[in-house]
Amino acid sequence: MAEGHILIVDDEPQILQLCSEVLIQEGYQTQTADSGRGGIARLEAEPFDLLVVDIKMPDMDGLAVLRHGRDLDPDLTAVVITGYATLDRAIEALQAGARGFVLKPFNLDEFVSAVDEALRQRQKDQEWLHLKAQMPIMEVSQALMKDGDVEALAVRLLEVTVRQTNAQRALLLLLDESAHWLYEAASFGLAAKARNRLRVPAEQGIVGKALQAPQPLVLDVSSQAVLEPPLGTLLVKPDTAALAFVPLRTRKKTVGMLGLSYPAGARKQAPFSRSSLSLLSILGGQIAIALENARMYATEQQRTTELARALEQQRELDRLKNEFIRNVSHELRTPLAMVLAYAELLASGTLGQVQAEQQGPLEIILQRALVLRDLVENVISILDSQSHKSEWELFSLTELVSDALAACQALADRSGLVLHSDIAEPVPQIRGDAKHLRKVVDNLLANALKFTPAGGSITVSLSNSEEQVVLRVADTGIGIAPEHQERIFERFYQVDGSTQRRYGGSGLGLALIKEIVEAHGGVVKVDSRLGQGSTFAVWLPIGTPSQAADLNSTMR
Ligand code: ADP
Repeated sequence: MAEGHILIVDDEPQILQLCSEVLIQEGYQTQTADSGRGGIARLEAEPFDLLVVDIKMPDMDGLAVLRHGRDLDPDLTAVVITGYATLDRAIEALQAGARGFVLKPFNLDEFVSAVDEALRQRQKDQEWLHLKAQMPIMEVSQALMKDGDVEALAVRLLEVTVRQTNAQRALLLLLDESAHWLYEAASFGLAAKARNRLRVPAEQGIVGKALQAPQPLVLDVSSQAVLEPPLGTLLVKPDTAALAFVPLRTRKKTVGMLGLSYPAGARKQAPFSRSSLSLLSILGGQIAIALENARMYATEQQRTTELARALEQQRELDRLKNEFIRNVSHELRTPLAMVLAYAELLASGTLGQVQAEQQGPLEIILQRALVLRDLVENVISILDSQSHKSEWELFSLTELVSDALAACQALADRSGLVLHSDIAEPVPQIRGDAKHLRKVVDNLLANALKFTPAGGSITVSLSNSEEQVVLRVADTGIGIAPEHQERIFERFYQVDGSTQRRYGGSGLGLALIKEIVEAHGGVVKVDSRLGQGSTFAVWLPIGTPSQAADLNSTMR
């Protein structure tokens, strides 16, 4: 059942009573009038959703009552009761706004369904009208939301609202951050140039009341004391008949208020019809959502810009820091090379016999200088590991691994270790920085040599799957306990303090390996058992010719 407030106008008291009772039983609210003039007086006093009117009454034609009612409220719909029906009269009634006919004598079921149907139709018409009224608001908000200019959006939304509501003057006020004040974001018909921007307290007077009210607040200016300034003086002019104050509210917060003034004639009747009120409510909600979205978007944009700026600053700082470290490391290289060279000369006896008690300290100088060189080289390599992809090339790891093995053969022999290689031919090419990947192989081999006691062996293997090349360096050395296996890839992490003393090293080798491998889109992992040995495996994507072509095209 559609809800509705119904006025029944008929000069026959029995029909009046019967119709009223049956509609009340159906759940409607009714008022009655037993003459045309009485009906008009009722229509002027309050809004109705539906008029049930007898066409033939002694004092007035029922259709004249309907026309008068529609002048007051264009949303009024009607069911006419008639004793005789001609086509002309029916057309006339339809044109006057009737949506249903009941022929006398009528049965009550027939009457009730005519009323139900007219109200249902009215509701559908209104839903459609409301939807149509919302469309321009949505269009404007969609078009302007991303500009991030809330006030420009407010101006356009107010223009649309004025068109949709036929208001004569209008103000759109927004709550400021304190939520204690409303400030003017847009106005219409108010001679804006001549005055300062309006600011009104949000908790006082009609504004405070309107912001709290669940529904738009409507004032009949002709029957009310003139509104207090500044809103009163701005919105109320001699030709003003009614005012509406619409809170702009989303489900979560109130963002402002709309003040609209209507001239006499457009909306004679105050308060407005239920339908106009609900349209104002809907518009208020839509405008609030549009403004709030734009505000959130603007805030988000600002935050993104600030974050991007902070990130840029951070990058610049990183760049400067890296540059500084690189410069210092380069500066350390030459003096360190000299220290090492002289220490080696001394140790070899070329510069004269070294006495027995000097042998130990000299050995320490030599070892520490080597550790330092290792550290400096690794630091430089880490800083260089993010090489530009534009410098990458397609190449085979086979040759690179063979060279690395050959380079450490002498050290392996001296340390009593056997080197094996297990390379499946042919291994597909990969795409990357050959110098950096050589560093990966060298560091893995150096660790294997360092952490494998004499008598052990080291096996380097190369194989491939469909998409990746796999390099494995396996040793039969001291192994790594499970709790250290993740952390050894962190910069400066060494399994324990004494390890460094026993084995030397800087704790940077594996960190460097990880950075280089990941920069190549690969993965490095360790599989190890304490006391039994470790296998480090590196997976690298196979470089296809098409990738090289892509690369060339992006470089062009
Ligand atoms: P370092 O310069 O100390 O070798 P790495 O980053 O290369 O630095 O290695 C970190 C730590 O991981 C080493 O100090 C060592 O404790 C452990 N580690 C690395 N490779 C091996 C290996 N093959 N066998 C046993 N332990 C290893």
